[in-house]
Amino acid sequence: MGLPIELTYLAASILFILGLKGLSHPETARRGMIFAEIGMFLAIVGTLLHHEIISYEWIIAGLIIGSLIGGGISIWVPMTAMPQRTALSHAFGALAASLVGISEYYRHGVGELGTFKMTALSLEVLLGGITVTGSLMAFIKLQDWIRGTPITYRGQNISNMSLLVLTVVIFLYLIFDPTAHTLFYTMAGLAFLFGVLLVLPIGAADMPVVMSLMNSYAGLAAAATGFAISNNVLIIAGTLDGFSGFILSILMCRAMNRSITNVLFGAFGAETAALADGTIGVMREVSAEDVAVQLAYAGQVIFVPGYGMATAQAQHAVRELANILVARGVTVKYAIHPVAGRMPGHMNVLLAEANVPYSSLYDLEQINSEFPATDVAVVIGANDVVNPDARDNPKSPIAGMPILDVDKARSVVVLKRGKGKGFAGIENPLFFKPNCGMLYGDAKSSLIKLAGAVQNA
Ligand code: NAP
Repeated sequence: MGLPIELTYLAASILFILGLKGLSHPETARRGMIFAEIGMFLAIVGTLLHHEIISYEWIIAGLIIGSLIGGGISIWVPMTAMPQRTALSHAFGALAASLVGISEYYRHGVGELGTFKMTALSLEVLLGGITVTGSLMAFIKLQDWIRGTPITYRGQNISNMSLLVLTVVIFLYLIFDPTAHTLFYTMAGLAFLFGVLLVLPIGAADMPVVMSLMNSYAGLAAAATGFAISNNVLIIAGTLDGFSGFILSILMCRAMNRSITNVLFGAFGAETAALADGTIGVMREVSAEDVAVQLAYAGQVIFVPGYGMATAQAQHAVRELANILVARGVTVKYAIHPVAGRMPGHMNVLLAEANVPYSSLYDLEQINSEFPATDVAVVIGANDVVNPDARDNPKSPIAGMPILDVDKARSVVVLKRGKGKGFAGIENPLFFKPNCGMLYGDAKSSLIKLAGAVQNA
């Protein structure tokens, strides 16, 4: 490989690292994205300069097909379906890695594949295969094409583990005997099957953790591809992708007080839905007019968005209500729980889309001490992330999950459509507390009503 190509790859790798660093904060995220895009462009240019390329026609055909699929997805899939979009991207990325692995194996004469190259190739196909079908299953569940709740059956964990062990044994065998063609293709088939079986028992709301794990596998598959075809930029980019996905999965699990094994093998939604139920008092319904008076004369109001804000697409309506309150001299802050919504950064992305300034967004650790001095906490379609049972009841299925202490505010107003439960499927004692009022209705229309009523207050 020539020096110009290596230098292009080096520049691309540096830009990927800068991109990743930029993505770690909302204010630098756009710049980070631009760095990463330039990096990807350089990596492609470097690859196209490669003397091994025999036909540019196929590359152009692939470029056109890929652009059409990518463009189509970005046009037709709405922001609320971002998890589905991410699942599809992972499936395509991993499919590319698997196909490269399979074609490299097919292309090489049996004697040419040494231990190192065979290990890289097999790993690429193994991780790639699991990611392709696992991500597609995640997409199908999130899209509600099949039941989103965990699909379980007797002996599921044992049969899945046996299948995984068999696949890994074949993988190890192939390292020592790359000539076993049938076994190679069997391993590829088993990896595709395992992806489906791995995701079947996982509830739709756990899918973001699974997807960031899939992201991690896809990255590691790409890194293995880099080793298999001796491409440095693929090794670096794949490793960055693989480990950042893994760290993200761990952070999400920690914020939910769950372990990764519990997410993968616990069939969470199925278990807990049956665990906690039963009324614990009376919920007090309030009217938009009453809430508007409280808001209009408050010193500080904290908005607490959750999954319901995303489904109602209420982010612009929140911003408009906030503008009206700020114009009246009310201090407005937004409390962002790390796992509010259905994917990391879900609330940040939606509020940024509505031009809510980053300086008004506060993390759980920053804002919790402020609730006792807050006049009104407005919970917008959030449930689990404000459930005081996680803090106060050690027997709760979500015990230990850090929550936003909205119940400590002088007054709490919860905007939700009815008595629906959150992702954990459990009752929320917050709704029965004397300082809590329920404003029923779709979050967006409730916020629009509130904005009108505050103006008249
Ligand atoms: P949540 O607990 O899922 O509760 C959402 C609430 O929104 C529901 O109680 C629902 O009640 C209400 N709602 C739904 N549509 C609405 C609409 N159009 N208007 C008004 N309200 C609406 O949400 P959360 O508090 O954000 O908690 C997130 C949960 O997801 C956590 O348990 C977390 O562990 C889990 N999770 C998050 C991530 C992540 O990365 N963010 C990943 C995996 C899992 P009604 O039906 O009565 O309206």
